[in-house]
Amino acid sequence: MTLLATGRSLLTGLGLNRFGRLRFEPAEEARFIQDGKAARQTHFLISGIFSLVAFNLFLLSDWMMVPDRFDLALRLRLLVYTPVALFFLVVSWRFRDFALQLPAAITEWVAMLGGVFAALCLVAVLLVTDSPYAGMYRGGLLPILVFGTLVMRFRFQLAVVFCLSLIALHLLTVFGAQGVRPPYPELEAPMFLLLLAVAFYTLAMNFRTEFEERLRFQRKERSAALRRELEASQARLETLSRQDALTGVPNRRRFDEVAWQCWQRHHQTGEQLAVMLLDVDHFKAFNDHHGHPAGDQCLRLVAKALQDTLADGDGTLARWGGEEFIVLLPHTDEVVAHRVADRLVQSVRALQLRHEASSTREVVTISAGVALGRPAMDGRDLSAMVALADRALYQAKHEGRDRLVMDRTPKGS
Ligand code: GH3
Ligand code: MG
Ligand code: MG
Repeated sequence: MTLLATGRSLLTGLGLNRFGRLRFEPAEEARFIQDGKAARQTHFLISGIFSLVAFNLFLLSDWMMVPDRFDLALRLRLLVYTPVALFFLVVSWRFRDFALQLPAAITEWVAMLGGVFAALCLVAVLLVTDSPYAGMYRGGLLPILVFGTLVMRFRFQLAVVFCLSLIALHLLTVFGAQGVRPPYPELEAPMFLLLLAVAFYTLAMNFRTEFEERLRFQRKERSAALRRELEASQARLETLSRQDALTGVPNRRRFDEVAWQCWQRHHQTGEQLAVMLLDVDHFKAFNDHHGHPAGDQCLRLVAKALQDTLADGDGTLARWGGEEFIVLLPHTDEVVAHRVADRLVQSVRALQLRHEASSTREVVTISAGVALGRPAMDGRDLSAMVALADRALYQAKHEGRDRLVMDRTPKGS
């Protein structure tokens, strides 16, 4: 990256564009404006009310400094400025939702033009007064300038326009006044300098304030993005911690959670559920003959076949450990449990995975042990049912593998 490009990206990162104007990239700028819109609307409303009261209090200055034009000042403040300002304040309050839908620039411009309008009221008096205090009275532009740039806090670009307008109006009253010349013309230049200095300092402060506001916004956005990322990775971790890494099916931990909830539900309804233990036949021999990576792939394919077979029911499959899987089949009876277990055994056989080292079949097969129980009545717990399923599985192995055996242990034993 060249030095120039580095500088540019630094400026943009801080919300300054290449010409030092306060502005983010378009998308971020739009979010920034939207984010602050409601708060700025409220701020303009409150400071607008405050400015209206303060503006009318300056009638006292009119009365003391431009008594010859007091009637004009009174009319301008009370009969022109006040109703117009009240109109905008009431509209922005009563139709707040509508105002919030308008582009933010409209509110900003209306507020800024309100400030220029206040200055124009002073200018109108200054252009026609014969008061010897006219030079001092012109100083009334200063509080208007300070109020706009620092209290109302117009956006920096508008604050510049505002200050330039007030400087222009100041000059207009100096060169365009119709009344009697003020007695101390040598004060004009220092007064003008004073206005320039105040404009410069308040603009600097205004810039700083907006700059910091943009920094705060960026920090807020970044920490929100970080929080979202953290939540997403937490959710990912949550999922992973309940998933078997090799086959992608739920692991034992997940199974325990599901089984516990299922067990509780069945305890209330008194329905039967089935537990099935499925074990790949001669898997040690498969590994020894085909290699461990082929064994892993075989487990993945078996897990997928089992899961696909269960897909249209509400049974839960999990890897129980090694080459064993477990299935929990809720609200079922013996006929359904038998049918599902049979389909599971068939689904693995149908994979037609060659098993060169099997002493029973030429393809990979599984054996299944199935136990049925009614949590509310049998007095069995889940681990007892798993033990019964395991015994049935052992029997299936004993009877020649590639088959299922239903547990026939009498209930209550
Ligand atoms: P049986 O038909 O009686 O179940 O015999 P078996 O050989 O399948 O049973 P045994 O318990 O003797 O062997 C299980 C084998 O499963 C031993 C172990 O190396 C293998 N195994 C367990 N987990 C994994 C695994 O994640 N990947 C692979 N490739 N093999 C595994
Ligand atoms: Mg085993
Ligand atoms: Mg086995």
